[in-house]
Amino acid sequence: MTDSSTLKIDPSKAPKDDGSSPHVEHWCMAQGCSSWGDFGFMPASGKGALSQLWFCSTHRAQYLQLRDRAREQAKAKDAAERPVLVENPEQGGLF
Ligand SMILES: [Zn+2]
Repeated sequence: MTDSSTLKIDPSKAPKDDGSSPHVEHWCMAQGCSSWGDFGFMPASGKGALSQLWFCSTHRAQYLQLRDRAREQAKAKDAAERPVLVENPEQGGLF
């Protein structure tokens, strides 16, 4: 069983496209993994070399779990910060 909280992305494994070839090698970017990166992702917050992430099937599953968890947390945070209309029964009504 894999622990999804241990996925570490190694930025040095980002695909390098020097323009010399139409083919770009993209290995799984999980730290310590030497598999081919079958699955590519474009994270919304990615910049430069990390605007593309590549993972093997194992690390793809980990990445998706972490991404979904982060999205849920962001959604929950949004909801918590939204003003909520609370009816106050102690407040006097009109005569
Ligand atoms: Zn991998």
